[in-house]
This record gives sequence, structure tokens and C-alpha cells, in this order.
Amino acid sequence: MKENIIVAIDGPSGTGKGTLARLLADHLGYYYLDTGLYYRSIAYLMLNYHIDIGAEDEIIRITNDLRLEMKGDRALVNDIELGNELRSMEVNKLVAKVAAITDVRLIINDKIRRYSHDKDIVLDGRDVTTLIFPDALHKIYITASAEERARRRFNQMKESGDTTPFEDIVESIKARDEADRVRKVGSLKIAEDAYVLDTSDKSIEESLKLLIKYIERVKPMNLKDLYINFMIEKGHKQIPSAPVVPENDPSVLFNTAGMQPLIPYLMGAKHPYGTRLTDYQKCIRTNDLDNIGDTYHHTFFEMLGNWSLGDYFKKEAITWSFEFLTQVLNIPKEKLAVTVFAGNDLIPFDQESHDLWFSLGIPEERIARTTEDNFWIAGETGPCGPDSEMFYWRSEDPIPEAFDTEDVRWVEIWNDVFMQFEKHEDGTITELPNKNVDTGMGVERTTAILEGKTDNYASSIWTPIIKLIEEISGLSYEGNEKSMRIIADHLRTAVFILADPAGIKPSNTDQGYILRRLIRRAIRHAKNLNIDINSDWDQRIASELMNMYDNYYSELRDNRQIVLEGLLNEKVKFNRTLEKGLREFEKVTKDNKDIDGVTAFHLFDTYGFPLELTEELAKEKGLKVDVDGYHAKFKEHQELSRTASQGKFKGGLAGNSEIETRYHTATHLLNAALKIVVGPDVHQRGSNITDERMRFDFNCDHKLSDEEKKQAEDLVNGWIKDGLDVRCEEMSKEEAIASGAECMFIEKYPDIVTVYTIGDNVSKELCGGPHVKNTSELGHFKITKEEASSAGVRRIKAILEQ
Ligand code: ATP
Ligand code: MG
Repeated sequence: MKENIIVAIDGPSGTGKGTLARLLADHLGYYYLDTGLYYRSIAYLMLNYHIDIGAEDEIIRITNDLRLEMKGDRALVNDIELGNELRSMEVNKLVAKVAAITDVRLIINDKIRRYSHDKDIVLDGRDVTTLIFPDALHKIYITASAEERARRRFNQMKESGDTTPFEDIVESIKARDEADRVRKVGSLKIAEDAYVLDTSDKSIEESLKLLIKYIERVKPMNLKDLYINFMIEKGHKQIPSAPVVPENDPSVLFNTAGMQPLIPYLMGAKHPYGTRLTDYQKCIRTNDLDNIGDTYHHTFFEMLGNWSLGDYFKKEAITWSFEFLTQVLNIPKEKLAVTVFAGNDLIPFDQESHDLWFSLGIPEERIARTTEDNFWIAGETGPCGPDSEMFYWRSEDPIPEAFDTEDVRWVEIWNDVFMQFEKHEDGTITELPNKNVDTGMGVERTTAILEGKTDNYASSIWTPIIKLIEEISGLSYEGNEKSMRIIADHLRTAVFILADPAGIKPSNTDQGYILRRLIRRAIRHAKNLNIDINSDWDQRIASELMNMYDNYYSELRDNRQIVLEGLLNEKVKFNRTLEKGLREFEKVTKDNKDIDGVTAFHLFDTYGFPLELTEELAKEKGLKVDVDGYHAKFKEHQELSRTASQGKFKGGLAGNSEIETRYHTATHLLNAALKIVVGPDVHQRGSNITDERMRFDFNCDHKLSDEEKKQAEDLVNGWIKDGLDVRCEEMSKEEAIASGAECMFIEKYPDIVTVYTIGDNVSKELCGGPHVKNTSELGHFKITKEEASSAGVRRIKAILEQ
């Protein structure tokens, strides 16, 4: 995407588009290219940017008053003449060139159609935005009724003394519209993603306001900034996005929502940034894997969130959600619907949320009351409460009056969760003294909506990747949606897992297994598209993805090479098992018997053969696959892993109390000890805490000797015995760095950070906490294991004994 072609504006004359384009350019501080005054624009660009437009032979110099001095008898041409001259060049190519070699931000207005060389296409204002500047970030089509345009023309003409009657002008304008319409019947239309503004009943000021709002809300990736700024205005502090692999929470493989890394604080721990927090969080949901290929579920996605830790509650949360959607994002409330908790035998109907939405103007029939989807609890017991989800009508079809939650054209975009109650072991429920709010809004879904797309992958978040896949495969997205979506989605997820500080590599367990499956499935679908999988297709897609995101996530910059190598290695491995798998396939089918479910699952589980591959190969041999049997086996397997992870989840939540807090502090001590024992260049590379042990990864090029391990243990236990105080201070980032505090990913932290200091500078680390008050609370520290984690990284497991 050429980022400097900002806006292409067109539409019939008399709509005010020229004035609007100029004012818009002024407002945004962009350069304004009026192709109606093409020659002047070109002269300006040549003068300032020495752009070769291919007419240099003819042109001697540009005069100070922006006229061109030409060779031969046309010594000094006037604007009109030169305009005609330059018009013979293809405007679109020229502008693309200008955009490519300058940093000028362009707003292009008008009349581009007349200068196209493409004889087969009759270009018109309505299609210029589709055909000439497909890359323009924003396409705006400005229109007005024929009567209104005639009225404006009439007034203009009257001023210059022309007395043509109004009716005649209306007639001629209508005739021209009709001629335009007839000329391009069926073949051309307004760019699908153009913003259409009807200025008939609006003043220039009103129209301009709408354009500015439109531009500002749909800058790609900018949704995140809009949201964070809005929440900061409402008194929130921005916290950094946590890694995709939870640092201290073994209950899940990946952070599945913005609230995940905040669980300790939602459970009552004091957050160093206060009681109002906001962030954008990288999320990975493996339970959505089956949905990938649809238009609005991704494995990896970004979630915007705002939290109240015992601060504001329903009124503020709902009012702000509504304000952000309708005032900042400009979403018409007619396209919104919400759900509220209907109530059950334990907890009453959420009257308050209902009344809030109603008072904001959501009509009764758009407030659905449901039970299952509107009650949130993390485990069996603990904090819980009703939630309220917001839906958007994402369809061209007329919007029904009433909100039917079963209708998939209503897409959920945001969820406000109210942690209002606590559920006890005996099943009873009491009100929490400190109530929390947890909200989550999907960046991809909301961006697609803002850009008027019914398919997330057609929004600016995905189009660069889809285009690249189209280019690599030589196929078009249309007709190949599923494979292209899967490739894009899975590679994006793989990129973020590989780049994560946890240092995950493809493997057969936990996160590594998910990573492996994602890469293999992407390869499989690349094969479907006839992509030569041994080419660098995956490297190209991954590179583009990293370019798109590395402004927001610095690990993509730091670990670029690791990501590319990780993908490559797994591809090589898959190629190898693919062969083994094919041999296995030959073996199991040598009697030409149909393939039963267990075998199909075995091919999947052991050789990474997706069902479709087995089916395809079977088909070639004229065999059938027991698909139901496969799914039954698959489900069995899934259930096993689900119960496992649910069990873990509860454990994690319950344990996220004192024990884990102790391990947290012990982690800082171990880090400090290793700096003394191994060397000052040792830094944390990853950490993971359960209520049973801590795990600490650090850079080190050798296996620790028994002596070194003993020294580290002794140091930590010495500090525990000394009963050192743990101090928490807020300071600016600069101060923190100057003070020598240990920190990773410094740029991810807000301007004011918290630094935990243990004792008299035994350890000083930038950290969100929580920590114990004094090291004497820790117990006895013991290293239970020391092993390699990855190249140049060692891993220590340790426990605290009472
Ligand atoms: P759905 O029912 O549509 O899967 P959800 O109920 O799982 O959504 P929440 O858990 O409430 O969604 O997450 C909050 C927000 O995160 C959603 O409103 C949505 O915008 C976004 N979201 C959730 N899952 C995904 C996903 N797989 N891909 C992209 N965005 C998602
Ligand atoms: Mg879901």
C-alpha cells in the first residue's frame, strides 16, 4: 500500500468536491493535487522533488511563477496549453511515481478520468477511485442531487451575468447524468470501499467535518490509537501489551483475552498503574481454530480493553463504550444491538445495564436478554458477573427492527464484563465489595466495520497479505478465500508465537505443538493454491507481516531472524515427515481398503496429515475416508486436552495468590544472583510461574556447573535470610534506565513505570508486580533443574520450600 496517496476524491461537478478536497488537505497538512489543474501540480512537484515525468526533453526550466519554459517555438507556455500537453500522459502512472519517490502526502481531486489512455474503459468520476487509484487509502465519492447542483450552477452563472433559466440547467445536468449512466451500464460503479458523501443538504463546513471524521477514523491500524487516547482522556493509564505466552500463568497456553494477564489484579492485587487501565493485547485463541476460514474469527487477533479495578462500574463502562462507538468511530446507533444478562435462579436480570443502553437510545427490541452468553466466571468459583455485548449489523441486507442473536449478520465487536459477585464453594453468591469492569473489543472486526467490509480479510489489516498471496500464487482471492485466509491467519499467528520472548519453537507439546500445526496447515493450504512450497513464499509473507506490525510490537524487529528461521526449519521438517507420511499412507492403503477414522486420525496426529490431505490422496485411489470416525477420534482427543487445560485454568486462578507472588519475587533474586555468578550480561529471556515452581530462562552459553548452581542458591537464600525490604517506586522511563533498573522491551512501557527494588540495590527491575513486602516471606529456595532451553538460552526450574 502506498501510504502517501491518502485520498482520491471524485464525483460530478457542482457538488463542492474541489473546495472540500482543498480544505481537507489544509486541515490534514497534506499536499493537494488537483488534476483539473494538473500542470500546476506537476510543475510544483518537479520544482520541489525533481521528478522525471518523461517530458524533460521538452522542458527547459520551471519559472518562479510555476510556468514551464519549453523548447522550440512554445517558449513559454501558458497554463492551459501546458495542461493539454501534460494531460497526454497517464495520470495514474505519474501520480504513482510521485508517491513512490517523494514523501508528499497527496490528496487527489477530480477529473482524473479524462486523461486515461485506456480506450476500453470509459472512466468517470464514479469509477476513478476504483480503477485508477486502487491503492489510495481513502476513496471519497462526493455527490449531490441534480437539483442542488443545478441551483449552485445557476447562482454562479447569474453572478457572471448569464441568464439561462434554472429549468434548462436542471435539464442539461440530468441529461448528462443519464448519458454517464448509459455509457457505463453494468461495467462500472463507485468503488466498493468509497465513502459516499451527499452534500445536497449540507453546508461546506458540515461536509468538511464529516470528511475529517471519516478520514481520522479509518486510518489503518489507527483504531488502536483512537481507542487508547479516548480511554486515557477518561482517566485510564496505558499498560503495555503482554507477550502472547503468559509469563506467570500456567492455566492457559496463550493469552486469550486482554484480561488474562490482569487476573491477579482483578483478584485484588494492587496494580502499580492504578485503578483505571487500558491497553491493546495480543491474543491467541486455539479454540477458534475450527472457525478459521470464516470472515471474522482469527487465531491471533488484537483486543482493545479498558479496566476498572474497583473504580467505575456499569454506568461509566457502558456510556463510554457507546460514546466511543458512536462519537469517535461514527458508527450509527441504528446499526448497533446489545445483549444483557437475563437472570437465572442465582442472579437477577441485569436491569441496570438494560436501562443504561435504553437511555442511550438503543431501542427495546435491540436489547436482547440472554443467559448463557452473558454470564462470566473464570472457574467454578470466584469473581463472576453479568456481561453486556455489543453487536454490529454487518450486512448489505436491510437491518431488521429486532435483534435476533441467532442471526450471524449481527457480529459481536465488544464485550463489557461486570465482575459484580463472588461465587462460593457452597454455590451461594454474594456481592463483591470491590467491583471490577473488564472490556474487550476486537481490532480486526471493528476495523473491517469502519471500512465497510463484510469480510475482515477485505479490510486494510489483511489486504496487503491477501494481495501478496494472490501475487505468489497467481490466483485471485475470489474463489480461493478459505485457503488464502488460512495461510494469512496461520502465518500471522506463527510469526507472533515465534517472535515471543518465551522462545517457543515448533514441537509436539503445548505451545510448540500449536505452532507446528499452524505452520503445517498453512503449508498444506499453500499447496492447495499450487504455490511452490520450497520457494520463499512463507518468508515473504512473514516479512510483510512483521513490517506491518513492528511499530507496535518491537519483538518483531528484535526477533526477525528467529521468526524467519523458525518457519524455514519447520517447513524442511514437514517436507521430511510428509514423505514418511506418504509412505505410511501407501502402507495402510495397500489392500485398497477404505480408511477408517482411527487411521485417518493417526495420519493426522503422527504425520501431520490434515484430513483434507488424506481425503484427497484416498480419492486418487478411489477410496473413502470415514470422516465421522475421524471427527469422533479428534473430538475425543480434544476433550482430553480441554479438560486438562480447564483443570490447569482453575489451578492458575486460585494459586495466583500469595504463592505465586512469592515466586515472582524469587525470580528477581535469581536474576540478580545469576548476574553475580555467571556475569553481568545475563538477562531474563522468559519466565513462567505456577503455584508449584518457577521457571526462569536466561542467556548463557554454557551448562551451569554444580558449583555455580550452589552459589546462586546460596546467594538467594542469603538474601531471604537477610529479610530485605521490597520497595515499589514510580518514576519516568528515563529515570528508571538511569537508575540501572533491569528491563526488557523498554519501549513497550508507558512513560511512567514502576521499579521494584530489593534491599539496598540487590535487585532493581522494571516490573508490574505483584511482589512480597519482605524477602523473609519466601521460604527456602532450591534449584531443581538446569537445562538448555534453546541455542544460547538456559532454563532453571526452582522451588520455594517452607
Ligand atoms: P464470538 O462469539 O464472536 O466468537 P466471543 O464471545 O468469543 O466472540 P469475547 O470473548 O467476548 O468474544 O472477546 C471480545 C472481543 O474480541 C469480541 O467482541 C470480538 O470483537 C473479539 N474476538 C473474539 N474472538 C475473536 C477471534 N477469534 N478473532 C477476532 N476477534 C475476536
Ligand atoms: Mg469466541
